[in-house]
Amino acid sequence: MNLFLRSDIALWCNCLLFDAIDTRVKFTIVKCIILHNREYKKVVNKSNMTENLQDRILQLKEKRNATILAHNYQIPEIQDIADIVGDSLELARAASSVECDVVVFCGVDFMAETACILNPEKTVLLPAEEACCPMAQMITADEVRMLRRRFPDAAVVSYVNTTAEVKAESDICCTSSNAINVVRSLEQEQVIFLPDKNLANYVARFSSKEILPWQGFCFVHDRITTDDVIKARRAHPNAKLLVHPECRPEVIDMADIALSTSGMIKHVCSAPDKEFIIGTETGILHQMEKKCPEKICYPLSSQAICTNMKRTDLVMVCDSLKLLKPRITVPEKIANMARKAIERMLTV
Ligand code: SF4
Repeated sequence: MNLFLRSDIALWCNCLLFDAIDTRVKFTIVKCIILHNREYKKVVNKSNMTENLQDRILQLKEKRNATILAHNYQIPEIQDIADIVGDSLELARAASSVECDVVVFCGVDFMAETACILNPEKTVLLPAEEACCPMAQMITADEVRMLRRRFPDAAVVSYVNTTAEVKAESDICCTSSNAINVVRSLEQEQVIFLPDKNLANYVARFSSKEILPWQGFCFVHDRITTDDVIKARRAHPNAKLLVHPECRPEVIDMADIALSTSGMIKHVCSAPDKEFIIGTETGILHQMEKKCPEKICYPLSSQAICTNMKRTDLVMVCDSLKLLKPRITVPEKIANMARKAIERMLTV
């Protein structure tokens, strides 16, 4: 029994009224104090454990000369330990400019691969080895080659959410924040856009070029429905609705604005409005709370959770730095071809 519990019970027993209370009520009071203290102890233990792990990670980071990059969809504890938190484009840029020996990528496989392609001399770690993006698996390099044969005059634009092999077969990559400019930068009038059909259709709204979308999608954004919008608008009538371009066209039509994740954070912090409904993976709300605590943000759908992005935890990051595993590598030939497509994107 800890000191806090003993003093609570002692306080009650010394209370003048305590003798007058029915025995069954006394028993309930003592039981409540015990239960309360057990929960209190659990919370204290957990936060101690988190702090210890965070300290250990900082020590290892120093020792390994490492940089921790985390996507906006990671759990709050991971975002808090990262050197840079951002969207795919920000992290791709960071991966190409950071000076360190080791990059720890808290995200999913294609992001760590991109970091590896841009930093062949660095050790790139993906602490949650099984964290993969289902959308990136929806197209293969063979399928890109087949598309090229079918549409020989078209440029191939690959969202960064693709495998290294697919990037290697592409003319240029893009992210949700630069996709429109990437398509504009191309000479070709016909563009194969893959793998996300929703982002492709969104880009087509701003382009006179013929966009040929592949039929992939992100299950997190694609399952946000117009019903979710109606409910959220009803619950928060004064809030502005921000959605990600990976959402379905009919959801984008109902929004005030469509933005990438970093675009959303900037918009929430700089717009005069006070309340926002956020139509993307719920992990982003942590950055919004940190960067502009005076604003109120609601998730458009509480179901918008990417289980793959949530696989990474502090223990995995700590182990990864300790053991320098799991390490991500990309075969040199593929990496050289994919690098051209990524670097071309970074110049747009
Ligand atoms: S949120 Fe969507 S696009 Fe991002 S990793 Fe998860 S499944 Fe892939």
